Amino acid sequence: MLPPGLPVPLALLIVSLAVTIIVALRYVLTSGLFALATARMRPGLYAGRGKQIAREIRWSLLSAAIYGAPAGIVLWGWRHHDWTLITADWAALSAWYHPLSVLIYLAVQDTCFYWSHRWMHQPKWFRLAHAVHHDSRPPTAWTAMSFHPIEAVTGAIVVPVLVFLVPIHVAMLGLVLTIATVMGVTNHMGWEMFPRWLVHSPLGNWLITASHHERHHEEYKCNFGLYFRVWDRLCGTDKGLSRRIVAEAGHSREAIVS
Ligand SMILES: [Zn+2]
Ligand SMILES: [Zn+2]
Repeated sequence: MLPPGLPVPLALLIVSLAVTIIVALRYVLTSGLFALATARMRPGLYAGRGKQIAREIRWSLLSAAIYGAPAGIVLWGWRHHDWTLITADWAALSAWYHPLSVLIYLAVQDTCFYWSHRWMHQPKWFRLAHAVHHDSRPPTAWTAMSFHPIEAVTGAIVVPVLVFLVPIHVAMLGLVLTIATVMGVTNHMGWEMFPRWLVHSPLGNWLITASHHERHHEEYKCNFGLYFRVWDRLCGTDKGLSRRIVAEAGHSREAIVS
């Protein structure tokens, strides 16, 4: 990947910068795509929000560097020293384990997010680390990575640590990162893209989509989860879905407080 004989600090710097650029491009392309979809599906939803969106993009690009640095170091260690449990050999892991590995990564990310998120909602930590994210009122497709650096660090270290503990095929890791990116963007874009039959199904009742996370941005003290409603339900912090989003999507009112 890099020329041999390159001093290690320089190699780490180059790889971290490259991954930062990839994370930034991934953010701009994904948020841009869903912002375009928003303009088509909900014309005017982001009208007059130019200043907010510019601020969200600035914080998100700073977050890209915070996500890029540890990911770059881990990528370098994987390619050059075989440090991690990432494999490029599909047959090295059982067929049944591949989907399980995705679920484990998502569940651990979700657990870390839930508890660090609740911690950041204590008044002292909120002002310091989390107010930036809630400055987006209401959020947009560009809010996905709009974090204060302290909050960005709590999100950036989970997957780089997990790849040392839980084996995963590189394609499944790509799937985890894709799910993280798409859900991060769409959960903030201000409208529900998933169909009613899924959102209000027995499975949908355990998943977090825009209808659920929007209510966190409306009321602050509930709906702290990332992908799943398990921790919110167990800890009594699940308040159901955003009335505005459910009403706009034409979903039934009974489902709002399910
Ligand atoms: Zn949010
Ligand atoms: Zn919050």
